Amino acid sequence: MRKIIHVDMDAFFAAVEQRDDAGLRGRPIAVGGAAGRGVVMTASYEARPFGVRSAMPSVTAKRLCPDLVFVPARMDVYREVSRQLRGIFRAHADAVEPLSLDEAYLDVTQSARTVPAIAIARKVKAEIQALTGLTASAGVSVNKFLAKIASDMDKPDGLTVIRPEEVDRFVAALPVERFHGVGPVTAQKLHDQGLRTGADLRLAGYERLVGRFGRLGAHLFHIAHGRDDREVTPDRVRKSVGCEQTFAHDLRGLDALAAALEPIALKLEARLRQAGARPLTLTLKVKDDRFRLQTRARRHARPVLDAPSLLLAGRRLLDEAELERPVRLLGLAGSHFEAASDQLDLFDLTV
Ligand SMILES: [Mg+2]
Repeated sequence: MRKIIHVDMDAFFAAVEQRDDAGLRGRPIAVGGAAGRGVVMTASYEARPFGVRSAMPSVTAKRLCPDLVFVPARMDVYREVSRQLRGIFRAHADAVEPLSLDEAYLDVTQSARTVPAIAIARKVKAEIQALTGLTASAGVSVNKFLAKIASDMDKPDGLTVIRPEEVDRFVAALPVERFHGVGPVTAQKLHDQGLRTGADLRLAGYERLVGRFGRLGAHLFHIAHGRDDREVTPDRVRKSVGCEQTFAHDLRGLDALAAALEPIALKLEARLRQAGARPLTLTLKVKDDRFRLQTRARRHARPVLDAPSLLLAGRRLLDEAELERPVRLLGLAGSHFEAASDQLDLFDLTV
């Protein structure tokens, strides 16, 4: 049986800003741009009781919390802390898989033969605190899915263990919206079928879940039994940066889909900019109401970077897709990055 630790820094960008500027401590702050299309990247714990959340438009955040202080992001500093974190992770784990600058899976199966996994997690947290002055939350369990849920259960500065003998009861009671791979739209569809918890999914059975939800259904069935065989993959390199949207109601027709691409192109532009990624290839992803996936891709002579160019290229790809069925998901991704950008760090993308 595997022993996996998921480590996640608490309010990472905001915590770094409060660490480096005493004037920001104890105050509601948001890292991100205050103006125009600005978005909150991370909110401090003081801002969260007001309802301020990551990815929220800054205008909305300011309305919810008038005293909110906006602080511009300092990506170089966050990257440096991230490097320190990885050093600590590598010293304690058999394998480390970074998910973003401040989050990683640690496989400690081998190490846990001599030191209990919970003791390793405690040590990692203490070293992070000593080296960076920041707090992390950790979750310990038998697979990635459960370790990640556990790390989120007692934030900030938490340490939660879901033991093998507890897995069955824990997953049975777990609401479907907490399951890996279930976003708000899928959660609603599951609710519509009367499926609200892990126990409901087990009762529904494999056949019905696969019939209704395809591959996702099979995945849900397995994790409803606490099974998640995904390995901790060290030094995974992101080869693409993408953005996708599942619709609350399936969309029909080229016009509706072309319009739906606009916000996706805007978000993708922001993600590419943050990553310093300059993609030469653009791929469109279309999933229909039967969960059939089509992709269309084109390689360009020069990188496609700004929202209008992404949108134009995306619409051309849409013209090539077969759109007979209603569409439930649309996505756009850039890949084959031009190597010109020297600040490109492919590990650092939260997508
Ligand atoms: Mg975090």
